[in-house]
Amino acid sequence: MRITNIAIYTHDLTVAQGMYRMSHSAITTLQSTLVKITSDTGLVGWGETCPVGPVYQPQHALGAQAALIQMAQGLIGADPTKIGVLHHRMDGLLTGHNYAKAALDIAAHDLTGKFFNVPVAELIGGALTNRVPAYFSISAGSPEATAETAAMRVAEGYRRLQLKISGRPVQDDIAAVRAVAQRVRGAVRLVVDANRGMLMRDVIELSSQCEDIPFILEQPCNMLEENVAVRQRVRHPVYLDESTENTSVVLHTVGQQLCDGFGMKVTRVGGIRPMSLVRDVCQIRSMPHTVDDSWGGDIIAAACVHVGATVRPDLYEGTWIAEPFTGPTYDPRNPVRVVDGVTPVPEGPGLGVLPDEHLLGAPIAEFS
Ligand SMILES: [Mg+2]
Repeated sequence: MRITNIAIYTHDLTVAQGMYRMSHSAITTLQSTLVKITSDTGLVGWGETCPVGPVYQPQHALGAQAALIQMAQGLIGADPTKIGVLHHRMDGLLTGHNYAKAALDIAAHDLTGKFFNVPVAELIGGALTNRVPAYFSISAGSPEATAETAAMRVAEGYRRLQLKISGRPVQDDIAAVRAVAQRVRGAVRLVVDANRGMLMRDVIELSSQCEDIPFILEQPCNMLEENVAVRQRVRHPVYLDESTENTSVVLHTVGQQLCDGFGMKVTRVGGIRPMSLVRDVCQIRSMPHTVDDSWGGDIIAAACVHVGATVRPDLYEGTWIAEPFTGPTYDPRNPVRVVDGVTPVPEGPGLGVLPDEHLLGAPIAEFS
């Protein structure tokens, strides 16, 4: 099979509740970038990448589009079923930009699954489940509002909640954590995610004032070194998220035991193939992790749950998808959605989602 055409699309995803607030930013709408790979068999594969704004990580929507345009012509004629060779070819066309390469990696997996008539999960080791645990992230807000949302999500069936904190006085964060714990304690696993927005001083304060509340601290500080250092000063386990910029950082932090787990993003590390490597490395050292992305529509959600379905259950911290915030996106007939705190893995070959191209309009660039 050969790639005969690559088309790049953009699509705006709107936050249904109006705003999604993190330490560095407040999001109302995001531009997602989609890729359609067409092959000489007539089969097509879809990929997607969607940084959650330009300040979450060193990635942004226009950067993804530029990187894809840089690589696309050089990939015409490549065999999309040889995904390792495809990565080698992408690396020969552009250094870095994993998040853009991820869109092509996801599309190649979708296409390969369709070619062999198997779901993507079967290409990467095989599914252990067809329903993966979801978790919900709660925007930073007042203690009362945060606790109210937490109780509502527990009632919906979520068994893991992530509270967004920081970007305000640490006492406000402490009050929010205590209010949530008081309301839902014991019913869920709590994660407190500062999105790299805290000073070490404030992380120590938060942890010591909440010593009686079990929770995971996710990426409290900006730099890897700060997170490694603060982990020695707190009682709570520290997971890394934004710092794991590539598989090399994952290997380093797992090998040196510099953290207790990961909030792991599929597109940040370069797509399904590198994420499968991360899964396997984490399994060797019994390191728990999520399988998420920072944002995105049905295509990214499908990629995440297919990988998630292959993770050893005791190490799997669940999958966050944007659907509870955005609603269905590209596949109106078979959207990827959270139901009662779990996300069914789409059925059928490839990713199992089929975008309605009428929603996307004309491609912004096309190569053949
Ligand atoms: Mg995070």
